[in-house]
Formats: sequence, C-alpha cells, structure tokens
Amino acid sequence: MSHDPIDALLGPDERAFRAEVRAFIHDTLPASARRNADLGRHATRDEVILWQKALYARGWAAPTWPVEQGGTGWDAVRVYLFTLECGLGAAPKVPAFGTKMIGPVLYTFGSDAQKARYLPRILQADDWWCQGFSEPGAGSDLAAIKTRAERTGDRYIVNGQKIWTTKAQHANRMFALVRTTTEARRQQGISMLLIDMDTPGIELRPIIGIDGSHSLNEVFLTDVSVPAENLVGQEGKGWDYARFLLANERSDITGVGRSRRQLARLRTILGQRGADPVLLAEIAEVDISLTALELTELRFLAAQARGESLGAGASILKLRGTEIQQELTRLLREALGPDALRFGAAATGSAEGIAEEYLYNRASTIYGGSSEIQRSLIARAAMAEGA
Ligand SMILES: Cc1cc2nc3c(=O)[nH]c(=O)nc-3n(C[C@H](O)[C@H](O)[C@H](O)COP(=O)(O)OP(=O)(O)OC[C@H]3O[C@@H](n4cnc5c(N)ncnc54)[C@H](O)[C@@H]3O)c2cc1C
Repeated sequence: MSHDPIDALLGPDERAFRAEVRAFIHDTLPASARRNADLGRHATRDEVILWQKALYARGWAAPTWPVEQGGTGWDAVRVYLFTLECGLGAAPKVPAFGTKMIGPVLYTFGSDAQKARYLPRILQADDWWCQGFSEPGAGSDLAAIKTRAERTGDRYIVNGQKIWTTKAQHANRMFALVRTTTEARRQQGISMLLIDMDTPGIELRPIIGIDGSHSLNEVFLTDVSVPAENLVGQEGKGWDYARFLLANERSDITGVGRSRRQLARLRTILGQRGADPVLLAEIAEVDISLTALELTELRFLAAQARGESLGAGASILKLRGTEIQQELTRLLREALGPDALRFGAAATGSAEGIAEEYLYNRASTIYGGSSEIQRSLIARAAMAEGA
C-alpha cells in the first residue's frame, strides 16, 4: 500500500466506516471486474450495471443525494472515503451520467412526474443515460449549439447532431441541450430535453478511440419527436441546468483513489525492475501533488456540506486530478521502458493495459471541459474574489 495521508486525520468511527466500505468492495466485486478496472480498461455494460445494483442493495447507490431521494446522509468525509475506497479497490467506474449528472438536475429542477419516473431507475441502473451536449463547433463554446427543438403542440421536433457522446451505444436515454429559440441571447435560447434513444430518427455512428476502444459516438437526430413533458424545468433555462450539471461532472473526474492505486502499481514495477533517481524524484513529486489534491478535495467537500457553492473548486479538482492521472500513466511507461510500447494482447505481465490507458488518458484533459477552459474559470474566480 502506498502512502495513506488521510488515515492520520480520521477518527475511530470514520476508520470503522472505511473498513466497512473496503470489506464490502472486497466481498462483492467480481474478480474479473476488479481486474478490468485495475488494468484501466473501460468497464463493460454488465459490470457497471451489476455493480450499481449491488450498491443499491446496500443503500449506497447515490452517496451525495438527499436522503429523501435515496441518498445516504453521509457527511463529506464519508462521501470522500467511499469514493476513495472505490478507486483503491478498483471498483468499476459507474458512469456519472445518471447518479452524478442528470439525477441531481432532476431532483433540483425536474417536475414531480420526472422525479417519480426517473430517479428510482437511476438508482437501480435500470436506465443508462448519455450526455448530448457537445456538437461539431460547440465544445468549449457550448452556447454555440445548433441542434434545434421546435415546439409543435405537445411535442418538440428535434433536428441536429451531437458528438463525442460517451457510451451512447449502451444508452436508452439522453439528456440533451437543444436550441428552442434563436431570438434571445445565445444562452437564453437553450433548453434541456430528455430523449428516449429508441425514438425514430436517432442514428448512432461509432468513433473508435486512439486506444482502440469504442467509447465515443456521433448521434444524429432527424425529426425526433419528444413529448413536451420531457422538458427539464423551464424552456430557455437549459444553460443554468447545464452549468449546475457540469460542476458535478468536473468534480467527479478527480480520481484520487484510482491514482493512489496507480502509484502503488508503479512502485511494484520499480521494485521488480529498479529505477533511476530521476524517476524516483518524479514519483515523489506526483505523490506529494496527489496528497495536496486529496486535502483540497476534502476541504471543498466540507465547504459544500456547509452549503457553500463549489464554484471554481470543481475546475481545480478536474484540472489537477487529470494532470496527475496523465503524469502517472507517463511514469508507468517510463518505468516499463521498451515494454511500454507493447499494445493490446502483445502487452503481458506488468505492461498489460498500460499503453491503452496512457493513450486514452490523453482525453482526460479535454472531456468535461478542457484544461485551458478550467484555467480561465479559475482565473476569473480568483479575480472576482480579489476585486
Ligand atoms: C473522451 C471524451 C469523452 C467525451 N464525452 C462527452 C459526452 O459524453 N458528452 C458530451 O456532450 N461531450 C463529450 N465530450 C466532449 C468534450 O466536452 C469536448 O471535447 C470539450 O468540451 C472540448 O470541446 P471541443 O472538442 O469542441 O474542442 P474545442 O472547444 O474546439 O477546443 C479545441 C482547443 O482549443 C482550446 N480552446 C477552446 N476555446 C478556448 C478558450 N476560450 N480559451 C482557451 N483555449 C480554448 C481548447 O482548450 C482545446 O485545446 C467528450 C470528449 C472526449 C475527448
């Protein structure tokens, strides 16, 4: 086990809670799913659904939701410890689309009918949601989306294209940003719609990633008819809901537990192969950065639990979390030397999965909002604070 800075800060109850989570993961998670996650592979659809259902049965399906909506009532430290242990225990990463993204939007802004219909299904992984935000020409500048939704009677007719839609091939529902008017300011013309993926007029085209995996898609929408009751909140307020959602998405990408596990893997490889002092110094540096990130995340979670908004905190966590993830996969490759060039089935033993994870991880400083955009958000918040 690598350095564990959090342990010294915990009281006996928190340590007992942590041990309970660890034991649950150990006893419940199938070895094959653990191995897949450990090697940095995308969890399969079945692995994700089984794991979410196991969490639901234990009452842990959505740790941060209000208790009355099916949440746990845990304090910030317990939420953190749970997430940390899931990463350390190589639990499949449950896509954030349901529990972290659209779920909180629905219990905060959705209609009673939407809450009753969708929230229980999110908790039990009966629905797989995908995120239809980005379009060609509208990524960082999300307000530039062009997909149109025209109201005719009690339906919206949707036409346009989404891109980079993660795991849309597994999804039966999409939450999408659409333009309901071109007359208002760009942001005010945007609404959020819930779209069933089996509606006629939806076509998916896969995008194969540099790691060889099919995780991304293009989604084409042609005359897709959506009931008006699937509008989230008010027409023209989609931008506000999207910002709320994106803050949750960003803070979910931090990944301290997974990074700690990677650090341990790195040290095991070095134990087998030896390391030069420069590499050791780089590893010490990333370890310190990870500890700083961990403490920062705890600080933000505590502030959030006091009712304070996370603000640019989500950007800080996303930015540093993904930089550290990339640094760790770089160091793993350094530690492996020429073996790091082996890809797919040619990579065996300690090299297994590392080339693919390194390549896929190039995307982590882009998805959820690129690093440049996060830096701008942080700078703007700092300037506003100083003003
Ligand atoms: C693996 C992966 C999964 C994704 N999953 C989803 C998903 O499920 N659903 C979804 O809706 N989207 C998804 N995305 C899309 C993602 O949100 C966008 O790729 C991201 O917001 C960047 O947008 P873009 O690709 O259009 O690049 P652009 O916005 O065109 O940016 C190109 C470059 O210019 C820089 N740049 C742009 N504007 C500025 C600025 N104002 N200041 C400084 N630099 C700037 C960017 O940082 C970047 O380096 C995913 C992307 C990836 C890579």
